[in-house]
Amino acid sequence: MRVRFAPSPTGALHIGGARTALYNWLLARQSGGAFVLRIEDTDRERSTPENVEQIYDALRWLELEWDEGPFSQAQRRPRHEEEIQRLQAEGHAYLDEGAVRLRVPDEGATTVQDVIRGEVVFEHAAIDDFVIARSDGSPLYNLAVAVDDRDMGITHVVRGADHLSNTPRQLLILRALGAEPPVYAHLPLLHGTDGKKLSKRHGAASVQELREAGYLPEAVCNYIALLGWGYDESTEFFTTEELVERFSLERVSKSPAVFDEQKLRWMNGHYLRRLEPGELRDRLEALLGRPIPEAAVAVAQEKMQTLTDFWRLAAFLVEPQPLDERAWEKVMTDGAPDRLRRAREAIASAEPFEPETLETALRSVVDELGVKPRDVYQPVRVAISGTTVSPGIFESVAALGREEALARIDRALDRAGA
Ligand code: GLU
Repeated sequence: MRVRFAPSPTGALHIGGARTALYNWLLARQSGGAFVLRIEDTDRERSTPENVEQIYDALRWLELEWDEGPFSQAQRRPRHEEEIQRLQAEGHAYLDEGAVRLRVPDEGATTVQDVIRGEVVFEHAAIDDFVIARSDGSPLYNLAVAVDDRDMGITHVVRGADHLSNTPRQLLILRALGAEPPVYAHLPLLHGTDGKKLSKRHGAASVQELREAGYLPEAVCNYIALLGWGYDESTEFFTTEELVERFSLERVSKSPAVFDEQKLRWMNGHYLRRLEPGELRDRLEALLGRPIPEAAVAVAQEKMQTLTDFWRLAAFLVEPQPLDERAWEKVMTDGAPDRLRRAREAIASAEPFEPETLETALRSVVDELGVKPRDVYQPVRVAISGTTVSPGIFESVAALGREEALARIDRALDRAGA
């Protein structure tokens, strides 16, 4: 099996493109074949080097390494011109006002045998003799794709459904070239949860954006594998090895698949919780570009769905955060400074300094004062985090360490004038 991913570098790599790349890569790995990367950069104005780099970066991040290429379609122009010449010489194409047109039979039809869609018939009556080279000599897109697929020995063309309508023209060119046509598989379109074609307004749309939003590449691969494919009715989690083993074009659906970022968040959360805290810390440090204490990572891990959630949940464990004045006013009512002082004593003497011992110590303050737990915990929370929402209070105090926790409580007591 020789497959290819052939992106046009006119923008970032989008989710649909990433899925196409993944499916091709899975097929190559599963069959022991080759995954060819071809950059379809013949639109010289829109194909920028930055976009090409972004595609490489995105593929590397997803760990979809290619075996051959990257080939530049634009640089293959001499090959395309050669074949245009040959098609003319052999009578398959002819000059018309300077442009070159392919002869399309008037009768009959070209049938695409699509693995996913079955037979798709295109009547020749509806296909004119189409242009394969402009009058300035530049080859047209369908010609370039057909010549490249033939030259690169592509056996299976797996690509988005938006290319189905190009397929009869590519087949007609391949036939005229005397080439054996590849097997085609056109993947279902992607929709947002509102049933409309996937676009910006459905959230993170490019691989780069998913990366910046704190998704893990293994979760992204798992999730996009399910956009149109399923192994059975229920399995949702697949390691890369399992995907390589189980993926098949026969189980890809024709109907549009729905990209749901909430579902991806949920799945990413599962992947995050499975990481060793040390590994999670490394990934956070790489994304946030700063050192992160492992204790803070462990506290946030249970609640995070993306890496960037970490900051919202646990920034206060890395460095003191600005005080939320309203939270302070709400919590530090009469009696609160006194309760906070009692909590401080309990925290100061908790031994060893761990969530369990801190819980016992703070609970005994609650019991001794005969108040509700929150009457003690909320002043501690606002003192250490600056707000009233934080992960588990005992875990948070433990993660800060005794010295820092007491220093923050002392500052709060000063502020309360107590
Ligand atoms: N360059 C095309 C695109 O980015 C893909 C062409 C193909 O796979 O045949 O949509």
